[in-house]
Amino acid sequence: MPERLFVCTPSKLGAYADCPRRYRYAYVDRPAPPKGPPWAHNSLGSSVHTALRNWYGLPAQRRRAEALPMLLKGTWVREGYRDDAQERAAFGRALQWLESYVDTLEPGDEPVGVERVVAAKTTVLAFNGRADRIDSRPGPDGPEIVIVDYKTGRAGLDADDARGSQALALYAYAAERVFRRPCRRVELHHLPTGTVAAYDHTPESLARQVSRAEDTARDIIAAEKAVADGADPDEVFPTTPGTLCAWCDYRRTCSAGAQAPAREPWAAVERTLSPPQPPGED
Ligand code: SF4
Repeated sequence: MPERLFVCTPSKLGAYADCPRRYRYAYVDRPAPPKGPPWAHNSLGSSVHTALRNWYGLPAQRRRAEALPMLLKGTWVREGYRDDAQERAAFGRALQWLESYVDTLEPGDEPVGVERVVAAKTTVLAFNGRADRIDSRPGPDGPEIVIVDYKTGRAGLDADDARGSQALALYAYAAERVFRRPCRRVELHHLPTGTVAAYDHTPESLARQVSRAEDTARDIIAAEKAVADGADPDEVFPTTPGTLCAWCDYRRTCSAGAQAPAREPWAAVERTLSPPQPPGED
């Protein structure tokens, strides 16, 4: 019998690469252990992403900055904030980001996809993922596809982040097959700073990222099979304690995570709203 393909999204592969135990909690253990409370930074990111999706749902002539407060209000996720004052401040900041960002967009430009699912198969995995935006731009030999990912975290991003993102590379690999056009360029649009971190992949660099994703998929398949055959799940899916633990949804379930400092659900947003610190103090 041929081996079944490993069905995955970028976040599923990323969960295992970050911490096999976290992967187990999220995708293997059933019933899944309870997650911690919702994070305000996830609410903020999700609100901004959905507002931008709905921006492109407007007719081109209505894509004006005046539409943004209503769009953001309609998509606003309220969970995780410390109090109403913090939530209001976050709303105001998100609106500023959006106003600055849409000012950089050509009103008539129509992406070929907005929150569009792209999928592709290799001999090991069946990948699918939802890209924030997929553009078509002129290239030397005709139109090319570009993957755009919005970011709302505090930290700025550079070309190394775009180059190293397995998720972006997999989107590019899949989009090239879905649209039957070259897709080599991937971009991280960081709304808080209004900067774009871009990388132009080559067929070789995309193949390397796909190969790494396949290696991760093989590791997961082997680990899941070992547990099914009776191995100790704690040994097969080890913990990898580190800075991510403080932000992990399963910190309260995980013995290693319990050692990490507790973060309030609004801690990251509080940092986002605070004035920039001098280098070294952030
Ligand atoms: S708390 Fe840390 S070690 Fe535990 S599952 Fe989460 S990331 Fe892994």
